[in-house]
Amino acid sequence: MRLRNIPGSQKIVDESPLVIKEAEKTRGLWKELFGNDHPVHIEVGMGKGKFLMTLAASHPDINYVGIERYTSVLLRALQKIEENPLPNLVFVCMDAADLEQIFAEGEVAKIYLNFSDPWPKDRHAKRRLPSREFLMRYDRILEKNGRIEFKTDNRALFDFAVGELGPAGWQAERISYDLHSDKELMRDNVMTEYEEKFSSVGNPICKYIVYRT
Ligand code: SAM
Repeated sequence: MRLRNIPGSQKIVDESPLVIKEAEKTRGLWKELFGNDHPVHIEVGMGKGKFLMTLAASHPDINYVGIERYTSVLLRALQKIEENPLPNLVFVCMDAADLEQIFAEGEVAKIYLNFSDPWPKDRHAKRRLPSREFLMRYDRILEKNGRIEFKTDNRALFDFAVGELGPAGWQAERISYDLHSDKELMRDNVMTEYEEKFSSVGNPICKYIVYRT
């Protein structure tokens, strides 16, 4: 994602009621925050948030939390949703490396990773959101039968991600190297901003759904 420092974005994020501040205080209390007992699904690296907004509108029985590191990006999501907020969608501005500080063990039912930054240099592999280091973090916050769903058009990142599963104790329930040709997976598919962009120029989209072994 091209990042520009947008003046004032920090203030807008700080003042938005849709962004949970001091989210460590909500650790273990997300159901109370939403005021119901519905499962919590998160997208890590949500960007401008189209994916989660679409899901939240069509699944009022699921609570969604969007995680995004940069205020300049989160601002775009806020601009989109503030006219028409959804009761089951909130955001946290943070580095996903600290997810365990805001979610208690087993508090999350599903994790979405969409078009995660590739970090192509080997020495940055630990920063990749589907790396084994991140899988260990997800392992701690995800409920027992929870799933991670990952999509990308970056074949090198996808191959890396698939290679990380076994050593980290995860197993693939579904793997597709051409999601948009897979009728079954496409039935519930919600396109992300990046997915629209890259599939429109003919890039095949890879997807996995994984669980713990
Ligand atoms: N998921 C969106 C989509 O598919 O359109 C956005 C994809 S964009 C390439 C990746 C996003 O992940 C960026 O907005 C970036 O700031 C965010 N991101 C990357 N690493 C992150 C981290 N460690 N914690 C939180 N957000 C992160």
